[in-house]
Amino acid sequence: MQYRPFGKTGINISTLGFGCMRLPEIRQEDGSWIVDQEKTDAMLRHAYDLGVNYFDTALFYCHENSEIAVGKALKPIREKVYISTKCPLERVNKPEDFRKTLEESLRKLDTPYIDFYHFWGINQKSFDEKIIPMGLIGEAQKLKEEGLIRHISFSFHDSPAALKHILDNGPELESVLLQYNLLDRANEEMIQYAASKGVGVVVMGPVGGGRLAAPTELAKKLGGENLNTYELALRFVLGNPGVCCALSGMQTYEMVDMNAAVASLEVPMTEADWRAAGESMENLKKFSELYCTGCGYCQPCPKGIVIPKIFEAYTYHNVYGLTQLAKNNYQRYLNDEKNPGVTSDACIGCGYCERKCPQHLKVRELLKKVEGVLGAL
Ligand code: SF4
Ligand code: SF4
Repeated sequence: MQYRPFGKTGINISTLGFGCMRLPEIRQEDGSWIVDQEKTDAMLRHAYDLGVNYFDTALFYCHENSEIAVGKALKPIREKVYISTKCPLERVNKPEDFRKTLEESLRKLDTPYIDFYHFWGINQKSFDEKIIPMGLIGEAQKLKEEGLIRHISFSFHDSPAALKHILDNGPELESVLLQYNLLDRANEEMIQYAASKGVGVVVMGPVGGGRLAAPTELAKKLGGENLNTYELALRFVLGNPGVCCALSGMQTYEMVDMNAAVASLEVPMTEADWRAAGESMENLKKFSELYCTGCGYCQPCPKGIVIPKIFEAYTYHNVYGLTQLAKNNYQRYLNDEKNPGVTSDACIGCGYCERKCPQHLKVRELLKKVEGVLGAL
């Protein structure tokens, strides 16, 4: 196992982290779920034996049982590992709620302290409108002084500009958990920025939330013929020198072994190969007839059509050969809870999107084309 310095924390963490959101579960007769503790103990200990020292859980994972199971599994080696968990901000309506939520996690994990306590899934809005005005960073600092948490962290879902805003305005934040993979490199620049500020970076979804996990034509297209796509994807994430750790929600021994093997490579990907892989992805996209960068300038469409997401789905199919993923995503966007059934037919032809698109895409025509291809799959 390889270890990397985790920002300015003074800690070295394993380049592979165990994401405990998909632990083996058993459905009870009454319909409720419990975690299979025996299997969890064995798998987490196996990962530890292979060198994994970073374990990530959250209050709501595994029907709210993940923390309990992780606490039990890691109890005998508690001092030798780092536990990360998260505070859901919807539970926090006044500053004291932050402490209460932490206390619940401490109880469930059966531990006197949390190594990395995250503001969970924040964005610029929740940072500006909740964390800052409610003084939650100050609350976290108090808990840190009391020894209940060792480091203040956040997990993040928003634009790179929002990430910069949070990093610039939250100097007390010591690590960030964010999305990054071969298919979604939006945060790439900000990973370097975070690293330059001494903020540790952990990546979630290093293999595209499983989208890249099955061997596909993608590896061949990228010239890595001897690698399956899964391995290529993980090597790519760890090839980024700004990344400290890639989290994987491992469900089998085989997955643990496979990931640990990649995370044990001294050089998971040379810098030259890493750049080449990123450029290949861009080139594949650029030579596509539909080069949408996902910038989002075309949004909001007055009819609620999620143009960048729809074009992304088309790219998955047309460029990367990830047809099943494209189909699933396309259906999901069309049946979005907020905009149910918004298809290209809903387009009223106002042209707002085309006036805004820096790539000068003929959005209206392309939406029809995408519907013709993905709608027919
Ligand atoms: S032209 Fe159609 S897709 Fe574009 S903004 Fe108007 S309604 Fe939305
Ligand atoms: S403005 Fe153009 S390039 Fe940007 S997301 Fe919309 S369609 Fe894609």
